[in-house]
Amino acid sequence: MQFDLKKSDRKATLDAILERLEGYYDDTAKFPVSPDIDVKEIKAFINEQSLQSGGNYAAAIESVFKGLEEYAVHTPHPKYFGLFNPRPNFAGIISELIAAYYNPQLAAWSHAPFAVEVETKIIKEFANLFGYSNDKSDGVFCSGGNEANQTAVLCALNHKYPDFARDGLLGTKKRPIIFCSKEAHHSVHKAAKTAGLGYNSVIPIPVDEDLKLDAAELSIALDNCRKNNTDPLMIIGTAGTTGTGAIDDLEGISKIAKNHNIWFHVDAAYGGAAILSHTLKNQLKGIEYSNSITFDAHKWMSVPMGTSIFITSDTDILGRTFSISTQYMPKDAEKLEIKDPFSHSIQWSRRFIGLKVYLSLLFYGWDGYDDIISHQAHMGELLRKKLSQNGWTIMNNTALPVICFTDEKHGKDENFTKTILEKIYQSQKSWISIYPVKNINTFRACITNYNTAENDLDELVSELNNERKKYLK
Ligand SMILES: *Cc1c(COP(=O)(O)O)cnc(C)c1O
Repeated sequence: MQFDLKKSDRKATLDAILERLEGYYDDTAKFPVSPDIDVKEIKAFINEQSLQSGGNYAAAIESVFKGLEEYAVHTPHPKYFGLFNPRPNFAGIISELIAAYYNPQLAAWSHAPFAVEVETKIIKEFANLFGYSNDKSDGVFCSGGNEANQTAVLCALNHKYPDFARDGLLGTKKRPIIFCSKEAHHSVHKAAKTAGLGYNSVIPIPVDEDLKLDAAELSIALDNCRKNNTDPLMIIGTAGTTGTGAIDDLEGISKIAKNHNIWFHVDAAYGGAAILSHTLKNQLKGIEYSNSITFDAHKWMSVPMGTSIFITSDTDILGRTFSISTQYMPKDAEKLEIKDPFSHSIQWSRRFIGLKVYLSLLFYGWDGYDDIISHQAHMGELLRKKLSQNGWTIMNNTALPVICFTDEKHGKDENFTKTILEKIYQSQKSWISIYPVKNINTFRACITNYNTAENDLDELVSELNNERKKYLK
């Protein structure tokens, strides 16, 4: 078996896949956003492919394209108004290919100094944008917001309990408690579970009218925590909740965290990109007072999946949390006083994740991102306006392009929202989701595609109007 394909076979394969991929990129809008899913059919299709002898490259690739095109929600579609799954940008896409060809190993600085230095530079740039001072910031690329939030919890534990790295939770006398709003992402709970704290260590704080963490309730919870003989560990503020795009009062929370002397983490997985837009960045006021930040570039920066950044203003904490010494890892970095990513993060072997952000910035620049993030926020404003003009009521309040809406007269009718949503999924033209706001199941539409244009909004609103009319007939 020849593992390296012949040059001519590689060329033929690359030509074929490039044509197919480019076709998908150009014509994404022609695909049904969400096809019917039949589990049996998908399993059967996968089982039909022989894994025994290999060799038929064209058929192999064709089967993957068929699988991805027929059995998936097309999140890069301009009328995918779903969760924060972007249409990936071109620089990000080719970065995946480049990183795979060179396959640099970023575990140790000495094996991939260029790649590690690029990531270090990007992290510094973001730390500065978020308002951390240049000499007081550190961070690491992560696979996603989940890993970044888990990193935050581990850092908070090592900050609070100086011997945590050695003694683990057995060294803590009282149960450590994480505070976040009821609207926070459940990766916080997952982080609590995987850090050994357990689900019950997370205290969800009620939210105010605008679905932001209620500061008064937080203060009460902190007092209760001390009375119950538990130990406040950290407060997590969310900048852009997954449900409604709410941004907690970061400045207010930072003061409470400071008064109680506990770690303040901001989960800006989605909303952090607001910092790139001159019209939105003031929404993140107070983020500069945090101890750490989660920011997903694979959401609003539209780079492909698997790209998040954890940033902290504590320059020692990542080392204290993760460092480990081994005989088999290269030692050069020690001499250079450079931090090796493997002793600085959850991951060990490490892909060149940061290339997707770096190349995107080289291609589009901060200016390009300012334009595109502001544009998407503008599309959100337009959609809000169009919905209101058509008798829909907006149920959330945010400057980010996440819109939760209902029909005031019929929203309380359980079947109303459910039936209309089913019809929309059946038509396969747009994809929106459902999210409960103040005990009403609302429709949730998010502009997560940089190509979504005004006519896409019009088509969504008109489909909603038609389905409402049919339902009420
Ligand atoms: C998406 C999201 C997460 C989880 O991030 P992943 O990249 O999916 O792992 C965490 N917090 C918030 C607010 C999110 O929107």
